[in-house]
Amino acid sequence: MESEMAAAEESRVVVDAEVAARLVKGLREAFVARKTRSYEWRVSQLKSILKMAEDHEQDIADALRSDLAKPELESVVYEVAMLKSACTMAIKKLKHWMTPEKVKTSITAFPSSAEIVPEPLGVVLVISPWNYPFLLSLEPVVGAIAAGNAVVLKPSEISPATSSLLGKLITEYMDNSLVKVVEGAVAETSALLEQKWDKICYTGNGRVGRIVMAAAAKHLTPVLLELGGKSPVVVDSGINLQVATRRIIAGKWACNNGQTCVAADYIITTKDYAPKLLDSLKHELEKFYGKNPLESKDLSRIVNSNHFARLTKLLDEDKVSGKIVHGGERDKSNLRIAPTILLDVPRDSVIMNEEIFGPLLPIVTVEKVEDSVDIINSGTKPLAAYLFTNNKKLKEHFVMAVSAGGMIVNDTIIHLAVDTLPFGGVQESGMGSYHGKFSFDAFSHKKAVLYRGFAGDVPVRYPPYTKGKLRLVKALISGSILGAIFALFGWSKN
Ligand code: NAD
Repeated sequence: MESEMAAAEESRVVVDAEVAARLVKGLREAFVARKTRSYEWRVSQLKSILKMAEDHEQDIADALRSDLAKPELESVVYEVAMLKSACTMAIKKLKHWMTPEKVKTSITAFPSSAEIVPEPLGVVLVISPWNYPFLLSLEPVVGAIAAGNAVVLKPSEISPATSSLLGKLITEYMDNSLVKVVEGAVAETSALLEQKWDKICYTGNGRVGRIVMAAAAKHLTPVLLELGGKSPVVVDSGINLQVATRRIIAGKWACNNGQTCVAADYIITTKDYAPKLLDSLKHELEKFYGKNPLESKDLSRIVNSNHFARLTKLLDEDKVSGKIVHGGERDKSNLRIAPTILLDVPRDSVIMNEEIFGPLLPIVTVEKVEDSVDIINSGTKPLAAYLFTNNKKLKEHFVMAVSAGGMIVNDTIIHLAVDTLPFGGVQESGMGSYHGKFSFDAFSHKKAVLYRGFAGDVPVRYPPYTKGKLRLVKALISGSILGAIFALFGWSKN
């Protein structure tokens, strides 16, 4: 495996603007030849992705361990199985998705019929991040291929083992005249962004999201931006606390040690309930990760020293460091930070104003649980919002009053696995969505097609525009059948 990666590294092409332009030109020529239009090509490519994931599950888990020390169970569930499920669904539903949708027409176009014909956008660019580097690279590619596009994938340089594996596997398994990988860092991504694409799907932080959108604007290219944010978890009293606690931990530390876009970023609960919740979190965390979590094989490490430094800086801020009520241990040489809980950190601290994206979890306390809505709404719109409650009124109020990419009542993160739900952010947490059929739609243009014959040609739409025609048009617009009849016969109603 290591020697294969070294070979892949050696054969890496340096992509500058000129190489990128040639690459896009080649793909565009291949796309114009209409090979991607056929159902057969799309299904064969989707099956290749599925086979690739099946054949190389162990290599994928190894690469993820090398990049993030990701526990194998998390790699299998959150990266490989979710990709396989997206592929299987696309293969199963593709014929249906590709079929034009018949729609009703209006009286204005009578007689006629109409349909919405999905067509591929063309050549699309997928830029992916390091935290779920396998899934978040290939899941958008599944949508792009299902919709019949040519694709360039640019995986993240921050997860180099997975990037290199993707480069190798896509070359081996996919139709390389239409599906390509470009490895590299900012220079390569910038060279790619200079080109004209028909859609760019970017998953990552909002700062680079703005760079992507500005580059896309030069060519009027549409973007799908899958960004992050501070996803809150509101915990009410009177709940099954053990189940709630376990579900919070499952969506935070048991998901890449908090390095997940939809992980709980902070908890809001009442002053009265906070001690109970804290005890429960401590208790369950110890059961899951033992007394020395820095040694646990079931926790990912921090991806690199930059992110380690960023996270420890959040903890070391003067007004924050004294607020740690659990954890706080760190091991710089192994890039490990233990699950850490903070209580009542000041709202103007950096940890309460930036996406944490790591194993730190502040708890904010309020007098009444209803106050949580104002706290959430005072920030930017999150990618996800979670509420644990048995109170029906609170549930309804939360769903109506909080704006977020998605939300779950009484669990965390698993909405991502429900492929009938769109996955995406709103405002600062992103634009557009994908998953399931939404992935096909995200990479398709919905072409409106109206069919007419030569019968029923209405003279009223042609000049000369007489007074009689004007009366008829007005009568038709106002829906007056009597007026229309009068106008047709040249009579005046007055
Ligand atoms: P990252 O650093 O791996 O960057 C993502 C991609 O952007 C990489 O391919 C990288 O090459 C490219 N890039 C970086 N700097 C660039 C520049 N200056 N110009 C052009 N391209 C550049 O990933 P990240 O941003 O650290 O990822 C973490 C963020 O992503 C978090 O905010 C997280 O919430 C968000 N995220 C969102 C989702 C989602 O589905 N909504 C999923 C995962 C992560």
